[in-house]
Amino acid sequence: MKIAEVFLNQTNKRIDHAYDYQIPQQLEAVIEVGMRVVVSFGIGNRRVEGFVIRIKESTDYSGKTKEICENIDTQSILNKEQIELCLWMKTVYCSLFYEALSYFTMSVQVKQEIGYFKKQGSFDLNLKENWFIEHYFTDDKNALLIKKVKPEDRLVLTALIEKKVVYAKKNWKIISDSSGEDSSAETSYRLTALGKEAIDRDKKIGKKQRELMECLRRNDMTAGDLKMVSTQFEKSLSSLILKKYIIKYKTLAQAQRLNLPGTEKKDQSVILTSREQHNYNQYRELTKVKPGVFFHVFDGASKYRLFFKAIEDQLKSNKSAVVIFPEVNMTFQRMEMFYKYFGEQVGVFHGRLTQKQRSELHQRVQKGELKVVIGVRSALFLPFKKLGLIIIDDEHDPSHISISTPRFHIADIAKKASEIMATDYIIADDTPRVATWYQIEKKELAMIQIGEVHRLRHTIEIIDMQNEMHQGNMGILSRILLKYMRSGFEQKRMSVLFINNKGYANSVLCRNCGHIEKCPHCGISLKYFNHDHSLHCHYCGYKMAIPQRCPDCGSDKIRHMGFGIDQLEEYLRKVIPGIRIGTVQGNMKRAEIKKMNKAIASGEIDVLIGTQVIIKHFNLTNVGVAAAVLIDRDLNQGNYQASETVYQTYSRFFEKAMDGTTKGLIQTHEPENETIYSIKNESFQEFYRGEIHYREMMKYPPIVNMVSFSIFQKNEREVENDAFRLYVAIKEELKKYGIGHAVYKPVRIGVTRGGNITYQIVLKSSEPGVFQNLMPEIIRLGIIEELKSKVSIQKNL
Ligand SMILES: [Zn+2]
Ligand SMILES: [Zn+2]
Repeated sequence: MKIAEVFLNQTNKRIDHAYDYQIPQQLEAVIEVGMRVVVSFGIGNRRVEGFVIRIKESTDYSGKTKEICENIDTQSILNKEQIELCLWMKTVYCSLFYEALSYFTMSVQVKQEIGYFKKQGSFDLNLKENWFIEHYFTDDKNALLIKKVKPEDRLVLTALIEKKVVYAKKNWKIISDSSGEDSSAETSYRLTALGKEAIDRDKKIGKKQRELMECLRRNDMTAGDLKMVSTQFEKSLSSLILKKYIIKYKTLAQAQRLNLPGTEKKDQSVILTSREQHNYNQYRELTKVKPGVFFHVFDGASKYRLFFKAIEDQLKSNKSAVVIFPEVNMTFQRMEMFYKYFGEQVGVFHGRLTQKQRSELHQRVQKGELKVVIGVRSALFLPFKKLGLIIIDDEHDPSHISISTPRFHIADIAKKASEIMATDYIIADDTPRVATWYQIEKKELAMIQIGEVHRLRHTIEIIDMQNEMHQGNMGILSRILLKYMRSGFEQKRMSVLFINNKGYANSVLCRNCGHIEKCPHCGISLKYFNHDHSLHCHYCGYKMAIPQRCPDCGSDKIRHMGFGIDQLEEYLRKVIPGIRIGTVQGNMKRAEIKKMNKAIASGEIDVLIGTQVIIKHFNLTNVGVAAAVLIDRDLNQGNYQASETVYQTYSRFFEKAMDGTTKGLIQTHEPENETIYSIKNESFQEFYRGEIHYREMMKYPPIVNMVSFSIFQKNEREVENDAFRLYVAIKEELKKYGIGHAVYKPVRIGVTRGGNITYQIVLKSSEPGVFQNLMPEIIRLGIIEELKSKVSIQKNL
């Protein structure tokens, strides 16, 4: 009898390893590696979902092995390479197997349901119970589901279960199973010949309507696709349907629309300029040696053409490709470009797909029908047949980091996947991450410059805010900024003020000399902690009382850097009366963004104050002055990547807001700060050199590996105890590894969302394997399971 190694869907890290189960004779032809099954587990023989990672001839287990009860899937849902990647993720990020697996199975989810079965034999039943059996158990084989039982009859069912006439059994069902044929039909839209004529002729067609018609001109689209263009598309289309410009019909699947008569022919071949051809040859040469290449992008259009060329070549050798974008960039225009070149082989995977659409896509990728998938990070986990190329676009975007456990950056997964699946990979960005540039310097990743560096040199002034104060300006805005804003107001040019609302009053600064208290061990800014009015280091726990006087200059003007958009707005109304202020920040609805963009375009806004959303969602033209108001606060966020985030964000802000005539300003209390200088000089190289030097000195990633454990729950005393227990265990275990590694005492981070009190433990190690070897031991000892708090783990993030 064959043996299957099975991971169980459960939450105890300690038993999160593969168990041996016998494959019963009747299932031998059915069970495959990469399938979900039902097994019985534990003393009570609980029915549990499991996942088969391996099938072998015999077991080393000396006890009696149990049998697999039944299969859930009818075919493998993960291929061999995917299982290897999943196991690697479990180990490297120290997650549960099923947590890692969930990324691969999100398109083929199963749900549990309780089925009721009637026992054979005769029983002593009352009238009502007899009626129930006859009425509900018409077919003995099939399970009766609770939703089929009318609420008023459910009491009878309970009675029958108590009498042991009916028994309950847990079952698993694949959610995406579409039994009814009609349920898989989707509404599609087609532009009629009349409609095509009308686009230019009919003046009554609105702007949005015209845009939708333009989309449909190329090919028919489903409701799901149109939603990508406009959430209100149904409203916009209704009058066009009445005019018979557009017809509505049912299709079976998203993909079929591409095969419909009347759609334009696709599959154009990619034509490169001679410069791009040169880049492409470089790329081909480089990938012969190393699979990974970084595209340093100075020309977006060239970048895409090179992507298309690289994909085209993969398809020629019958391989597939996946392109990962940050969520926010999934525009319809981009999808269209891919359709144009690769037609029906393209699949789009994004967060707005229904479970059914996802499952359909999963199947078509598995069958090899879809060879080019564009999408968000989860697209990488689809079961590709012969994957040849992975592309990660706009790599710096934080949307590439997963938000649930295991927490990873998709570029790290791509790198490992490329190793396991023998694929090439391209990482593209205009401003690289420090970690990525480090790999390039170490020659682990090759680099090609795409397009010419012909960036407009902006003139950005650095304003010393201490100086302002010494000259009597106690306000938050410098005199020169106010002067620029006033003259912009007169000349009808907009002022844009960038302020990051995320930072609260968490760092403390001397307003006289700009001194900020930093941790003597970790080099990061200390955070203000109102619990006991002290300053804390979030990494090592170093603690000091807030000094009465500045240790540098002796001034008593020590203040928090707390200040928000609302206060700034209030302040401005006082200083420049009559000014029209627009504010933009996170969580704006699409309609609000649109409205604001309209107001900006028509000159209704004199001053725009906003957070990072400015960079992503707003079109800025005619900007008189663009200013970074509170950059100091962002530079002193109290984590080691603060400067990198500042560089990435503020460079993009100035790039976006400024043209040749815009004045750029950075207000700061640290006029000598290197990061600020690199932003002014628009030099990533300069920033990188300073930053990597700092990370080398203070031992931060990418120089060392850094793991942070968050321990959280609502009870203050328990979470503190738990944090120290885990700390002691790690410290003890770490002794085995000699020098070059350190674990820092738990630090109370504060109350996070959901009212949990969070402690953090930081572990640094110069060898990548230490964490991976140490954690299984901690888990084996049962430390994490015994804690009353939850633990989440982040690595180099
Ligand atoms: Zn001072
Ligand atoms: Zn420290």
